[in-house]
Amino acid sequence: MTKNIQALRGMSDILPAQVGLWQKLETAIRELTSSYAYQEIRTPIVESTGLFQRSIGEETDIVAKEMYTFADRNQESITLRPEGTAAVVRAGQQHGLLYNQEQRLWYAGPMFRYERPQKGRYRQFHQFGVEFYGVASADADAEVLLMSAQLWKKLGLFEHVSLEVNSIGLAAEREAYKQALIDYLTPLAERLDEDSQRRLQTNVLRILDSKNEQTQALLADAPVLSDFLTEQSQAHFARVCQLLDYAGITYRVNPRLVRGLDYYNHTVFEWVTDQLGAQSAILGGGRYDTLVEQLGGRPTPAVGFAMGVERIVLLLEQHAFGQDTVQSADIYMIALGQNAEQVSFLLAQSLRDALPYARVLQHCGGGAMKKQMKRADRSQAQFAVILGDDEIAQEQVIVKSLRGQSDQVVLAQSALVSYLETHLHENNKG
Ligand code: ATP
Ligand code: MG
Repeated sequence: MTKNIQALRGMSDILPAQVGLWQKLETAIRELTSSYAYQEIRTPIVESTGLFQRSIGEETDIVAKEMYTFADRNQESITLRPEGTAAVVRAGQQHGLLYNQEQRLWYAGPMFRYERPQKGRYRQFHQFGVEFYGVASADADAEVLLMSAQLWKKLGLFEHVSLEVNSIGLAAEREAYKQALIDYLTPLAERLDEDSQRRLQTNVLRILDSKNEQTQALLADAPVLSDFLTEQSQAHFARVCQLLDYAGITYRVNPRLVRGLDYYNHTVFEWVTDQLGAQSAILGGGRYDTLVEQLGGRPTPAVGFAMGVERIVLLLEQHAFGQDTVQSADIYMIALGQNAEQVSFLLAQSLRDALPYARVLQHCGGGAMKKQMKRADRSQAQFAVILGDDEIAQEQVIVKSLRGQSDQVVLAQSALVSYLETHLHENNKG
């Protein structure tokens, strides 16, 4: 026997029973981004490996151990995108969208990271993200933060999530702080967890968000980053906080929040939930004023965030929408005999033209009334539209209600559209 081929580990199929929830979330994202006047951008799923090395940073988890990197047939090193920002900057740069102008952009799509798969953590996952270019002041930070809060409100998740914010200042301020942290931790190095020992040499800031308890305990008396920020940087952060306060968004200032990518400065933030076990981060972002320049462009201030779609779908399953029903149609067309079949096709088309929100399912494969009715029931359609030779002769049609009281009416075929238009459930009207 041949062995069945399975999907790759950590890569999921999204089946028809689950896709309804995805589509609801996608609709909410479209409404949200449109109401904030952001425009969609779509970039390729693979990019030159160098793009991610130069932007995300060689010493980050993503670049050091999570990327899907291949040589193509021409021996070029290419990488399945592990996140969206680098490619948006690359595209903005390449097409002259960034220099000397404001851009409010959003993207959504699959990302790839070679991680240990578990609930809420996959090797192919999806992100929705926004990027706002061209404004350096704190109101831009506040705009993307308020937008993320608005999404939770739209989705009915606001009470299950909370916001953490921090400022990591400018590179020069961080350099001074890094040195202070190295000086503090070096004598304690032997008591740090293994990852943190390595990071002491390579990326000391990342030690701050180590999940290891002993490491966290050792950090209790460590110097804090905010003491190293200039007045100007502190003022930027204070204004972000003030705008959040004014908008009534509660948050916690987490002085250990640094985020896993190298390109951030000033404001960093993360929305977290306690409902998904270890995978608590549902959306992360911050300001990144040096990335465009770092990738070869002119200095361009920028701020943005990325949200993990699967984790939100899990939350929606648990809280807001519940399991979706597998209703596959609104109207089920039943035809008895070849003549009826022909007419049924035309009637179905007239329904689709007139009622574009209705899902009209045409029975195929013939069979007796009983068999076709059974299929109609299984589709969970609201109405069956039945045609046989008698109905054809009279230019009539039978409409049978399949939900609630199962009554049926006989109508002139010409009256079918207006009958269904009045009687289809409100919630099917798009
Ligand atoms: P984590 O700490 O959970 O690894 P991260 O800091 O690596 O998250 P980001 O790079 O900030 O995540 O990506 C933004 C969001 O994308 C995360 O908040 C999370 O919701 C989601 N995400 C990241 N990695 C994965 C993954 N492997 N599977 C599913 N969702 C993910
Ligand atoms: Mg990660």
